[in-house]
Amino acid sequence: MKVDADYTPKPYEQWRASDWPRTYLARGFDNIWAVGIAFAPPHQISRPRSSPNGTVIAPAPPRTGMPSGVMGRLAAESIADRISDPAAKPREASMAAMGAACVASAGTGLRSGSAAAMTMMPIVPDYATYRTGRDLADTRGELGLAGHWVKLMLHHLFLHKAKGRLGWQFIPE
Ligand SMILES: Cc1cc2nc3c(=O)[nH]c(=O)nc-3n(C[C@H](O)[C@H](O)[C@H](O)COP(=O)(O)OP(=O)(O)OC[C@H]3O[C@@H](n4cnc5c(N)ncnc54)[C@H](O)[C@@H]3O)c2cc1C
Repeated sequence: MKVDADYTPKPYEQWRASDWPRTYLARGFDNIWAVGIAFAPPHQISRPRSSPNGTVIAPAPPRTGMPSGVMGRLAAESIADRISDPAAKPREASMAAMGAACVASAGTGLRSGSAAAMTMMPIVPDYATYRTGRDLADTRGELGLAGHWVKLMLHHLFLHKAKGRLGWQFIPE
């Protein structure tokens, strides 16, 4: 669904971090939110390129688990605000201001496992704020056993949260 993004077609040089949605309120509907994979991105996040034989390489924006979870919580909080105060402003969480972490498994085993762990801040590059588009202090990647332990921990924590067990609300997205 189209939401509060700037969908004006424009060349890569004119793409801005501010094109990205903040509230995820559907266009023309003040009581419908579209988060995670449900919202239409305004454009790709990286410069579209093509291979020597002409195959278009246009990286689609990643709306992965962590940002989807953050957007979902934000929309739920906005709805709760709206119930207690009909004039409440919707909360905001732009992917151009939000960081994300991702851990991709590359082998199991408590001592022999491996995973690629990466963090990115912000998810959508912001060239007006950061020279490279991203905060390099918070944008990192590492491959190894520690990543596997993190993935294993997240697996149990997320299931605990999803099942609403004791203390679920203290586990972040
Ligand atoms: C194989 C795979 C691996 C991934 N690995 C990672 C990873 O390691 N890290 C990471 O961050 N992200 C990962 N992702 C991405 C992540 O899972 C998604 O970005 C995230 O789940 C999107 O959340 P969502 O709530 O927007 O959508 P979904 O999680 O797809 O939720 C949509 C829900 O809506 C339900 N639904 C659909 N139609 C209807 C309907 N008509 N009525 C009612 N319900 C409906 C669906 O059943 C589903 O439960 C992976 C995705 C895949 C496919």
